[in-house]
Amino acid sequence: LDRFRASVAEHDRVADTPRRTQDRAAEVLGAFPERFRNEPDTDPSLAANRDWARRAVAATPADVTGPELTDPAAVDAVVERAAGSSWRAVEPGERARLLREAARALAAARTELLTTMVHEAGKTVAEADPEISEAVDFAAYYADRAAELDPQRFTPARVVVVTPPWNFPVAIPLGGCLAALAAGAAVVIKPAPQVRACAEVGVAALHAAGIPADALQLVHTDEGDAGRRLVTHPAVERVVLTGASETAALFRSWRPDLGVIAETSGKNALVITPAADPDLAVADLVRSAFGHAGQKCSAASLAILVGPVGDPRSKVGRRFRRQLADAVRTLRVGPGTDLSSTMGPLVDALSPKLERALTTLEPGESWLVEPRRVADATWTPGVREGVAPGSWFHVTECFGPVLGLMRAGSLDEAIEQQDATGFGLTGGLHSLDEDEIAYWMERVEVGNAYVNRHITGAIVQRQSFGGWKGSVVGPGAKPGGPNYVAQFGTWTDPARLE
Ligand code: GLU
Repeated sequence: LDRFRASVAEHDRVADTPRRTQDRAAEVLGAFPERFRNEPDTDPSLAANRDWARRAVAATPADVTGPELTDPAAVDAVVERAAGSSWRAVEPGERARLLREAARALAAARTELLTTMVHEAGKTVAEADPEISEAVDFAAYYADRAAELDPQRFTPARVVVVTPPWNFPVAIPLGGCLAALAAGAAVVIKPAPQVRACAEVGVAALHAAGIPADALQLVHTDEGDAGRRLVTHPAVERVVLTGASETAALFRSWRPDLGVIAETSGKNALVITPAADPDLAVADLVRSAFGHAGQKCSAASLAILVGPVGDPRSKVGRRFRRQLADAVRTLRVGPGTDLSSTMGPLVDALSPKLERALTTLEPGESWLVEPRRVADATWTPGVREGVAPGSWFHVTECFGPVLGLMRAGSLDEAIEQQDATGFGLTGGLHSLDEDEIAYWMERVEVGNAYVNRHITGAIVQRQSFGGWKGSVVGPGAKPGGPNYVAQFGTWTDPARLE
């Protein structure tokens, strides 16, 4: 933190020379150890890599899923074994070494992880492959954070429970485990029921790397008494949750003193002004809205179109809509096992909110592109035109392949609409005007603000990921960022977490 502060102070001192946001980010990141490098994704432009992906998706995933616990006493035994683990006594430097081994083991398991994700989570290769890189990054990045912890001033939490979502079945579960392990806490992970095998394969890689079996245990529980026991057992000091705000509230109602570290819902918008490069804006919007069929907390669910871009009768507005509709219709919807699919199926059952978003328009709205159900869980993408400020679609997270277009008279109005959702996870601006960019960056209330870029796919260390307002519960340090690991314990000097 001191190095970070020194770097920011240095930036402020020389701020009278013009510089770009990227320079500042590079400077701030430069204050951290040089050792970390992001793991590269597989390059699909190479024929050998396409062959590899073809073989990986054609393989049959291993049957690795263990039984489900339904008895709270069985959960007690798991938590107590974790509480008795000697992991907390392992020197930070040794923990860091094991986490670096874990990074290597995950990189080596890329093929098996890809096979499992495509089959079990319905991910396309283009979505699944970077998620494996992200898990490797978490291991290597948190290893560096472990090495920085001062055991004289920091006491690890005894047991941390990780309750991940189904939409990122490798990076989010493993990221939570790795951060807590880096801090010296023992971990019990309960994977989402839809994607149990993905977590099993990932956890097996961590065990193979030398993370002790009692320090990292995976359990499948039902959502009844056993699940509740896992969160309310007194030895559990933190719960990492990525999921609905309602789940965070439920956990808190079960146990008000529980340390919940949660990234919750989002309703994210990309603002596009007349100063945007329309080709870039359309490509980034489509990727942000329909990657993994929109099943990301970070997905763009709204595009707020400023001035003439918003007006369907203006030349710019007409052209933008034509280009957007064409791009959306060219998405190839199908299973991840078909390498030509660019959008996969829905993983979870259709929620009432998503069903409404896919089938029912609000007054004043129309379909620019109407979604269609093509198979049981497979929908083509939809684009709603004319979403009004304050309407149901403006403020409701739907978590699926539906994008709404809103219109704003000015950048100010667009920011107002962007901030009025009640959430604050991701947000974007497409504009090539430096003044607009600076103005927007200063005002937008989101955790991850992206300029002239897609708004999903945060990258460890470069874009730590997390929200503001209705999108976060807990101290708020973000995964993939400098203070995340430090939340999994207590400090003799609490100012450390400022
Ligand atoms: N970290 C992911 C991203 O940047 C989103 C995670 C989520 O949907 O929960 O796209």
